[in-house]
Amino acid sequence: MTSASTTRVGFIGLGNMGSGMTRNLQKAGFALVVNDIRQESAAELIAGGAIWASTPAEVAAQSDVVITMLPTPRHVDTVVNSRTGILAGIADGGTWIDMSTSVPEVAQRVRAEHSARDLHIVDAPVSGMSVGAANGMLQIFVGGETADVERLRPVFNAMGDPDRIFHVGAAGAGYAVKLMINQLWFSHLVATAEVLSIGVKAGVDLDVLRKSLIASPANSNFIQNDVLSILNDGDYDEGFAIALACKDLGLSIDLARSVGVPAELSSLVEQIYRRARAQYGDHAGEMTPVKLYEDLIGTDLRLERVLA
Ligand code: NAD
Repeated sequence: MTSASTTRVGFIGLGNMGSGMTRNLQKAGFALVVNDIRQESAAELIAGGAIWASTPAEVAAQSDVVITMLPTPRHVDTVVNSRTGILAGIADGGTWIDMSTSVPEVAQRVRAEHSARDLHIVDAPVSGMSVGAANGMLQIFVGGETADVERLRPVFNAMGDPDRIFHVGAAGAGYAVKLMINQLWFSHLVATAEVLSIGVKAGVDLDVLRKSLIASPANSNFIQNDVLSILNDGDYDEGFAIALACKDLGLSIDLARSVGVPAELSSLVEQIYRRARAQYGDHAGEMTPVKLYEDLIGTDLRLERVLA
């Protein structure tokens, strides 16, 4: 078991997600070694006792378990395989957990090219937004060997909701589950934006329309909960940049192509996301496609204030 008192965790990628996840690892008692291309992102962790390492190789050399939480597969590849990457520092038999929303190719290549080193590689992407990262309530979808997943559970428990940490299959399964979660959520978002806009434009009160949808077979978690940040506060969730949402949609469609399943609806949702990204910029929130519809109907979708 990887208990907090005996395990040093290395963490690379201290952005919107990694900053909250590392704070929770620290709170749970894990000693940390951290790295990011933005050194300033580590200031608070270092004040709390974390060690700064200037390269991923140095992180790996000083850690029992190395975690990556990086934007895209390209970033993961660089951090793992470059001259100063994880592979240059990790001990034989060491453990690398990739919690990025990514694809299995980087890990597959490492396994193939370094099979003699007995590395333990696990994919464990997450859901729950930056809020879930900050409050230690992430959902974690883990792909890998059962023995590794069980050994690493205390590390996952420090960052996620223990009731929603799922071992979803062999290596790579975590990435696939996460991409499908995002694909469905983004599809719910676009469908909901379209329906609310049409209904409001047809003269129905937004609150009445939403409550009617909730009371009907068309209800969804998105319409019941997640859309409220926009309807109540005009908050499109800048904690997850639309550039990364577009990355996820692209990976999801690549996955569909690789397994030979048509992804007609997903492709359309991807194009709508790309339109929103082009219109509002890379850093706009993941829920900004709703704004495309608001602009089309010439009104913001806002409730007076919904309690509950
Ligand atoms: P982010 O852009 O806020 O953070 C990424 C961090 O990685 C940044 O601090 C960046 O400086 C660092 N980084 C980039 N290249 C690096 C390198 N070569 N070496 C060291 N550090 C490097 O992204 P995020 O929102 O934290 O997302 C991280 C991952 O989690 C992505 O794969 C994303 O799709 C996924 N995710 C995000 C959310 C969310 O709500 N933000 C939710 C679930 C999953």
